[in-house]
Amino acid sequence: MAREPVLTFTPSGIYCPAGDFHIDPWRRVSRALITHGHADHARPGHGRYLATEAAMPVIRHRLGDIAIDTIRYGETRQIGGATVSFHPAGHVPGSAQIRVEVGGEVWVVSGDYKTEADGLSEPFEPVRCHAFITECTFGLPVFRWTPQEEVAAAINRWWAANAAEGRASILGAYSLGKAQRVLAALDPSIGPILTHGAVEATNRVMRDQGIALPDTLHVGPDFDAKAHPGPLVVAPPSALGSAWARRFRGASTGFASGWMRLRGVRRRRAADRGFVLSDHADWDGLLGAIRATEAERIFVTHGYTDIFARYLNEAGWDAQVVTTEYSGESLDEPASDGPADDVTEGAT
Ligand SMILES: [Zn+2]
Ligand SMILES: [Zn+2]
Repeated sequence: MAREPVLTFTPSGIYCPAGDFHIDPWRRVSRALITHGHADHARPGHGRYLATEAAMPVIRHRLGDIAIDTIRYGETRQIGGATVSFHPAGHVPGSAQIRVEVGGEVWVVSGDYKTEADGLSEPFEPVRCHAFITECTFGLPVFRWTPQEEVAAAINRWWAANAAEGRASILGAYSLGKAQRVLAALDPSIGPILTHGAVEATNRVMRDQGIALPDTLHVGPDFDAKAHPGPLVVAPPSALGSAWARRFRGASTGFASGWMRLRGVRRRRAADRGFVLSDHADWDGLLGAIRATEAERIFVTHGYTDIFARYLNEAGWDAQVVTTEYSGESLDEPASDGPADDVTEGAT
């Protein structure tokens, strides 16, 4: 009888038969191992959860009173016939790749990852394996990121120029990960840093777990915008153009996202400025990470899966596409609309 694979792809999500658990499942299951707190990976309704110590506070903040157990990076745990461990994915604070070993065969689920160190998330660590299940949100050669310091400098220059004209700068950045990364990169000497409630709630969770962020002022219902001239306001993308944002009359708006690499996305978002800043690996990051695993079999999930798998196969890997319900780097929260229609426009 042929041996069962270490992981299988089921209608509920990625499943380990030997350990009877799922990884980042999208339907309700009894036991879920969770790579990180983004809504498409950490969903409500599972019987039991396992996540890293560093990811737990935000998962609990988002999902409420769930039964969640924690594990340290690199610690091994036996679950049924499987040995599992979690390793830094560099995506957002606490994010992990999950290594599963059964009978000497090792599979790794990347979750979402980024290979560039961002100063907040635990830096990405390649894990050697036989099979690697990788996201490929930005799996096209057009996606190549500039170093974070350069993007940070551009954001600070934009902010300083707006402040000099007495305008507010409102920057759209999703509230878990990107927002804190932007905050940590800001130069507080330019002016006050303000936050939308969704961002501030996540900030609070992260500060409580010891992550250092600059001082911020929460823009609540009674906030007097005039008392804080020339601010940089960090808000979820969905808040831009809302009644909440209109209190900052004459503000300049910007977006921080990997999708800003595609001109059409920014245009349709009506943002004044796009900053190409992603919490996912770019083309070179994906290929570098895959090489570092030394895996022969590659399964690709969310993103430009068909194109990316074809590239890997031509380059000598045994790659296949896996259909999942993960949604990549979203422009809105909760994640939904993939801007796939911009590819022809921006990527050619
Ligand atoms: Zn994510
Ligand atoms: Zn994802």
